[in-house]
Amino acid sequence: MAFEGLTGRLQDAFSGLRKKGKITEADVKDAMREVRLALLEADVNYKVVREFVKTVREKAIGEEVLESINGGQQVVKIVNDELTHLMGGTQEKIIFADRGPTVYMMTGLQGAGKTTTAGKLANYLRKQENKKPMLVAADIYRPAAIDQLQTVGSDLNIPVFSMGDQVSPVEIAEKGIQEAKDTNRDVVIIDTAGRLHIDETLMDELENVKTAVNPHEIFLVVDAMTGQDAVNVANTFNDRLDITSVILTKLDGDTRGGAALSIRSVTQKPIKFTGTGERLDALEPFHPDRMANRILG
Ligand code: GDP
Repeated sequence: MAFEGLTGRLQDAFSGLRKKGKITEADVKDAMREVRLALLEADVNYKVVREFVKTVREKAIGEEVLESINGGQQVVKIVNDELTHLMGGTQEKIIFADRGPTVYMMTGLQGAGKTTTAGKLANYLRKQENKKPMLVAADIYRPAAIDQLQTVGSDLNIPVFSMGDQVSPVEIAEKGIQEAKDTNRDVVIIDTAGRLHIDETLMDELENVKTAVNPHEIFLVVDAMTGQDAVNVANTFNDRLDITSVILTKLDGDTRGGAALSIRSVTQKPIKFTGTGERLDALEPFHPDRMANRILG
């Protein structure tokens, strides 16, 4: 289960505090030492951990908490609030076009879950937002990527625009949007190429597609199981493409929490959805407060 280790460690860190009524500065420091180790062990970015612990400590050794008869509970509340803040505070909504079709670009490394998530997003938009999505197959490099998207589309009964693998992704994306206009589809989700590693050719190509279609959202799909690597990938994509949002996949696995807790703070871009399974309905809007509660257990 996701965050299991982290949740257990945090509960241990707070067990002493929770029992006490009035607490001392030393109690707070002890607990925060444990919290620091728990976060580092969960693969949270060390700079994020440092800032986090500093902020909580400062708030928790304020007079109000130390004088209170339930100081321990208050420290836990401060940690909860700061975790929520770390993940963006409030839920951020997806962006839609004011008029004409909304255009989304799905980006990410191979295996992150990009193609599956394109399908999940289309399904979500149709069900929850009453949209008429269309998928565009612009990953012309990975063998079978186009077939995979077509399978996803036919499972969902959502149209997939494809021009094979001999046409440039820019042209596929542009023609896809035209097709959406002609056939009255209001959201275009472009599945772009992913590679095993970030390279210049990939980034150049994504930049070209971005410039050509000027998307309303550039979603970066990252695998939560990869921890700090996911954060590094997010940083690199963000530097080159100025992504708008992150979708964190595989939160149904036993991810430690590092990606979920670091990405927002490191990239300043919100997580908007999480993937919670292989099925095409396993996509959930991301709520920082709910995630913080879940992490605290
Ligand atoms: P792409 O190479 O980034 O397009 O990745 P795919 O969409 O092909 O997904 C790679 C694998 O991850 C597939 O087996 C998916 O079923 C799986 N996958 C994607 N999202 C999730 C998720 O949220 N949870 C789980 N458990 N598996 C996922």
